[in-house]
Amino acid sequence: MKLYYDNDADLSILKDKTVAVLGYGSQGHAHALNLHESGVSVVVGLRKGSKSWKKAESDGLEVLETADAAARADVVMVLLPDEKQQEIYESDIKPNLKSGNALVFAHGFNIHFNQIVPPENIGVFMVAPKGPGHLVRRVYTEGAGVPCLFAIHQDPDGNIRDLALAYAKGIGGTRAGVIETTFEEETETDLFGEQAVLCGGMTELVNTGFDVLVKAGYKPEIAYFECLHEMKLIVDLMYEGGIAGMYHSVSDTAEYGGMTSGPKVIDSGTRQRMEEILENIQSGKFARDWILENKAGRASLEALRRKHDRLPIEKIGGELRDMMSWIKK
Ligand code: NAD
Ligand code: MG
Ligand code: MG
Ligand code: MG
Ligand code: MG
Repeated sequence: MKLYYDNDADLSILKDKTVAVLGYGSQGHAHALNLHESGVSVVVGLRKGSKSWKKAESDGLEVLETADAAARADVVMVLLPDEKQQEIYESDIKPNLKSGNALVFAHGFNIHFNQIVPPENIGVFMVAPKGPGHLVRRVYTEGAGVPCLFAIHQDPDGNIRDLALAYAKGIGGTRAGVIETTFEEETETDLFGEQAVLCGGMTELVNTGFDVLVKAGYKPEIAYFECLHEMKLIVDLMYEGGIAGMYHSVSDTAEYGGMTSGPKVIDSGTRQRMEEILENIQSGKFARDWILENKAGRASLEALRRKHDRLPIEKIGGELRDMMSWIKK
């Protein structure tokens, strides 16, 4: 696997270009500020009346309405919520794209699942930092960078690879290293990770463990500490040293018990269902469901949110976290 660093990227490619960063949320503020401080001409695109408008201006950036920012730019980075991108693309971006422009994403969903189909004369690439926006910003100000993925979807003029690497350099990514992927790989692995492991798998694991302890008569406060609160400790150890690093740090009792009981929790049935989740992602079924869900006013998502809000672990967790002065409210 090839890694691209600062020396592989030429920022001067962006010298005579204007980059529009659409959205000023988690990723948007980080990209806009990092590019600006890297000497790139940046304009932020937002809705009229957006709460972020003043924030971006007081951060020293020029702000225009989304369509005007797209019209001004040579490179349009779309850092809007994924489920709103298609509509905003049709109304504000597409009418303002000119031959030779490039459209950029930080996640492949809308391109890979054909929600956005840019004209053939437009370059399309992705630069996706492997970290949340606040980290992309903070690490840049400290002189380093967050590793990024990049991918090329359309390259009508043969310059998109250089442009993608220049963009990655502008946000600090090539300081850490940049890896090439495809829109397909990034989209499908991102969806799988959040569904099967990170958001879906993890929350069900935590909640089921909590439930088993409470049903067996243990105090919910104690169950909360053991099943949810201590998760951060374990995740931090894995983040820093992998699975081996985590097992090295915990007690030998935890190591033996974990290694023998883990495969009973996650067994071949779990693996098979994970493979089904992946098939649903690959076939486009998940994407279709989620797109239709948004068109239906998110009826299912709202019902699921209500169900999750009522979970006992949430009530007890709220009370216990009030005891923890170091947790930001
Ligand atoms: P976000 O929700 O934090 O920010 C979205 C921004 O879009 C906000 O500034 C909001 O005001 C603006 N916005 C919303 N509706 C708008 C409209 N109708 N017109 C104009 N502006 C509007 O989003 P985010 O988490 O930064 O995600 C942006 C992209 O980055 C997504 O494609 C996401 O998948 C990708 N991404 C996010 C992360 C992350 O850590 N958050 C990491 C990698 C990639
Ligand atoms: Mg992801
Ligand atoms: Mg995701
Ligand atoms: Mg313990
Ligand atoms: Mg040990």
